[in-house]
Amino acid sequence: MSAEPVITDSDVHDDGSVGCWCCDTRDVPDRMVHLGNHPEVHLCLRCAHFVHQQAWQIEDEGRGGPAAFARDRFRNLRAEVMRRGWHQNRFIGGRLRWLGKYLP
Ligand SMILES: [Zn+2]
Repeated sequence: MSAEPVITDSDVHDDGSVGCWCCDTRDVPDRMVHLGNHPEVHLCLRCAHFVHQQAWQIEDEGRGGPAAFARDRFRNLRAEVMRRGWHQNRFIGGRLRWLGKYLP
């Protein structure tokens, strides 16, 4: 992913920001992840982290061992927290979202 981002005029908004191709969040191009063979694709950091987690999950599907098992448990725990809406709780939501950045 060392290619320089290709930013066309149609990608850039009036304030110089570009939109994420996944969620349409706007940010400056330097704060976006660009795909190696398609540098015109912009992903916001949040979506890039999500894609990374999805790739890790796919890789783990065929693996055994304690590390893959632990990551699977953390994924299930995250899903349960989100299902219950605890990540939006005014008291513990911020801490849970912060913690979620560092878990698989
Ligand atoms: Zn996004």
